[in-house]
Amino acid sequence: MEKNNNNLDFLSKCYFCGSPLDDKSLKILENKDKKNTFHVTCGKCQTSAIVFFSVNQAGIMSVGMATDLDQSEVGEKFLQEAISADEVIDAHQFINNYLGNWK
Ligand SMILES: [Zn+2]
Repeated sequence: MEKNNNNLDFLSKCYFCGSPLDDKSLKILENKDKKNTFHVTCGKCQTSAIVFFSVNQAGIMSVGMATDLDQSEVGEKFLQEAISADEVIDAHQFINNYLGNWK
């Protein structure tokens, strides 16, 4: 995975308690073209979230949402139910809602 320091807060620290996330906290669910989906679990507060991460002309965009699924569950359900990363990432309202909730 390429290292990039732009707008990667979602992957570097827990949104809920702010603890740093290490590599073991991250699982890549999907990695294709310039879109990536990660499952993260905070080692401190045990909160899990799904993070969508994409690169386009506008730059790097990431958005996350809390999930009750653990890494094995999310791997099965997420990919089967095929949440479309395109639809999610294009949905500005969705993003704003979630970002707003975290601040
Ligand atoms: Zn946490």
